[in-house]
Amino acid sequence: MLIVIGGLIGSHIEKLEHFFYICTNDTLCYIAVITQEPTEMHRKLPALTADNRAFWQGGEQGRLFMHWCEDCTRYFHPPGPVCPKCASLSVRPKEVSGKATVVSFTINYQPWTPNLAAPFAIAIVELPEQTGLRFLSNVEEPVEQVYIGMPLRVVFEQQEDVWIPLFIKD
Ligand SMILES: [Zn+2]
Repeated sequence: MLIVIGGLIGSHIEKLEHFFYICTNDTLCYIAVITQEPTEMHRKLPALTADNRAFWQGGEQGRLFMHWCEDCTRYFHPPGPVCPKCASLSVRPKEVSGKATVVSFTINYQPWTPNLAAPFAIAIVELPEQTGLRFLSNVEEPVEQVYIGMPLRVVFEQQEDVWIPLFIKD
């Protein structure tokens, strides 16, 4: 973060996040400008468990894993120790292709925190491996280019010990 006191610098205009006046007496005011380089979105990170570790850390090897039931031979999400369909305990992470399609989406325009780079697209994506195999993610494309049915492929954003699955146009 850079604090510039005394005036605006043209090349920094697009990076402005906050500016305010500092008045030292009745007649003299300075403009304090806080500029900030674009930053990654600050996300609330999940607590890792034995069940969800593959989903959140598979991205370290560029791989997306979904939980799979050996008995009813179906994927399910979120990952857990018991199949929600047949109650089997024979479940495990299984790699998927990383392809997906936008099922629904919304655009967030509100910069809820100072580092949040709005607007961005929040999407429900469905994986081709199984009808209804969906989760919530972000589409990392210009928001005006996102549409229902848009083909996607996964990319990963590392934050601490988590590789967050995000999607770009395929
Ligand atoms: Zn099952």
